[in-house]
Amino acid sequence: MGPVDVVQSSGVKLRTDVKFPFAVGSSFVVVQSGNYAAIVHKDLPIDTALDVPEVALATYSQANGQILTQRGYIDPLWIQTLAEGNLAQFVQDGHVVVVIQSERYLIGAIVALPIAQLNQRVQGVAAVALPVGILAGGVLALAVLQLARQHRAMPSVIRDGLRRKEFFLVYQPIVDLATGAWVGAEALLRWDRGGELVPPDLFIPAAEEAGLIQIVSEHVVELASRDAAGFFQLHPDFHLGINLSPADLEDERTLALLDRLTEATGAGKGNLLVEATERSFTDPKKAGPIIHRLRGNGILLAIDDFGTGYSSLSSLEKLELDYLKIDKSFVDTLGTGAATSSVILHIIDMAQSLNLKLIAEGVETETQACQLRDRGVQLAQGWLFARPMPFRQLLGELEARQGKAARLVEH
Ligand code: C2E
Ligand code: CA
Ligand code: CA
Repeated sequence: MGPVDVVQSSGVKLRTDVKFPFAVGSSFVVVQSGNYAAIVHKDLPIDTALDVPEVALATYSQANGQILTQRGYIDPLWIQTLAEGNLAQFVQDGHVVVVIQSERYLIGAIVALPIAQLNQRVQGVAAVALPVGILAGGVLALAVLQLARQHRAMPSVIRDGLRRKEFFLVYQPIVDLATGAWVGAEALLRWDRGGELVPPDLFIPAAEEAGLIQIVSEHVVELASRDAAGFFQLHPDFHLGINLSPADLEDERTLALLDRLTEATGAGKGNLLVEATERSFTDPKKAGPIIHRLRGNGILLAIDDFGTGYSSLSSLEKLELDYLKIDKSFVDTLGTGAATSSVILHIIDMAQSLNLKLIAEGVETETQACQLRDRGVQLAQGWLFARPMPFRQLLGELEARQGKAARLVEH
């Protein structure tokens, strides 16, 4: 095979121009290590790059700057641009060129792409990407604009909805787990925006943020006053719950508002119940006085979604509370063997030691109802018993149940 051209530090011997009788007119590189030699065709320096035909590739020996293998047009002088460092990038002779050399082996590589080809490819990509990009950008900008407009418009949209009487209340029964009797109901607000029902989880936080919640609560009281006018004269043992936000419980006007509800519904002590989340109690100094006066007026107080907020147990003891509503997320863990299922047992124990009555929320299965009953939870609410319904339907159902009970007594 002729004389060795380069011996690498690893002992590998390189011959860069070997001719074989079986391939007349071709020249090969031979890489020899010990008694083994590999023959490399000079046109195939890097087989992974074969799908980019216009790219010229070469490998060269760092020892003498000689091209070892090559495909396409490569100028051997390009190697000399590597004065220091292991990488050079430049434009020369109408080519974009990169020269890079190995830190471990006495070998380097050159890649070159004719600028004309490059421009053609860039233009090809741009022809497709530019219109698509402009279109996508336009759509995004419109979406952002729309969102911003909606967000800004939310307060005025809520105001419009109130004016147009698009809000109404539905009532979800609360049952006595021991007897199955309906002992109360929670009023839940609905917004019908021309056939589209907006969920309260969306508009209540928006109203709170925009400082509109008191107007909303006022509307809730108005709606409930109309729905349940004179109701407690017929059902003196029932209770009706409404949800109030933190801002409501820091505002004196809420007292007058609930006086109106008491009057309209004929409520006595213990007929009305206010549900407030733990957020309302983070600063007891603020909500405390109003809560104290509400309870003085015979209104019951429930802490809603208990366990999901940050109320400390010590503050719970100081609060004037009647009910604790166990959040659905804890009820869901019952009977699943999930690690958190023991949390609900602690909540139940704690409520009992604080003399609080419990209402379990979001009860969906008989198993959950059984376990809650066994643990001494008195009341529950959930799809297992009834979904939220219009007041008229609640009334009808209550009357049917009363009739049934009366007939039972007669016989
Ligand atoms: P919340 O006070 O925890 O009300 C209970 C929610 O759970 C209601 O959703 C009710 O429909 C739903 N629910 C009841 N039983 C089940 C069940 O078995 N399974 C499942 N998956 N869900 C059940 P809704 O009506 O969408 O109300 C969501 C939240 O919006 C309420 O949560 C409350 O925080 C707020 N909200 C509703 N109405 C009013 C209101 O008049 N004033 C205020 N400030 N907030 C309200
Ligand atoms: Ca509630
Ligand atoms: Ca709740």
